[in-house]
Amino acid sequence: MFENWKWDDCSVKELLRKITSYDAPEYWQKEIDAFKASKQPKPEWEILEGIHPNAIEPHEWLTREKCFQQGGATCEQEGCKIHSVRRLSDGEVFTVGDTVDIWPKESRLGRPMQPMDIEKFVIHDDGMMAYYGSFGYYLNRLVRRVPTVDPVPVLLTPSEIEKLHNILNAY
Ligand SMILES: [Zn+2]
Repeated sequence: MFENWKWDDCSVKELLRKITSYDAPEYWQKEIDAFKASKQPKPEWEILEGIHPNAIEPHEWLTREKCFQQGGATCEQEGCKIHSVRRLSDGEVFTVGDTVDIWPKESRLGRPMQPMDIEKFVIHDDGMMAYYGSFGYYLNRLVRRVPTVDPVPVLLTPSEIEKLHNILNAY
């Protein structure tokens, strides 16, 4: 019956004002905008640091929002290379030069995946990828390597062992 009917902000506002009888168009526009924003896909990563083409040391990544206050150019405009990124799902930070494992641990052919040294980060339409040479993996496939440290043997004298016993027994 209403085949050609499409909701837009105005009609949604009109309906909201009717059913709540709260007639404040600006208020409803804010509600509509907040609702729309809540339905947008959430960013999965943020860039923390970049390296300017003429520099060696990394610096804080400047987005449009950050440059707005300072009046400078963004890192994107300056052609800065992405140096470190934070994965927002778990807060894990990855930096160029890190050695990471790749998940899943076996390739589709059943071969074990080799750890990768991150050489660079590249943004694609659908996400952030870490590269080594021509091998690239999405951020959600990187696994922080847990350094395997050999336990250091601790040598105690008999009197130290007794002291330790007493301390532990006290708890
Ligand atoms: Zn920069």
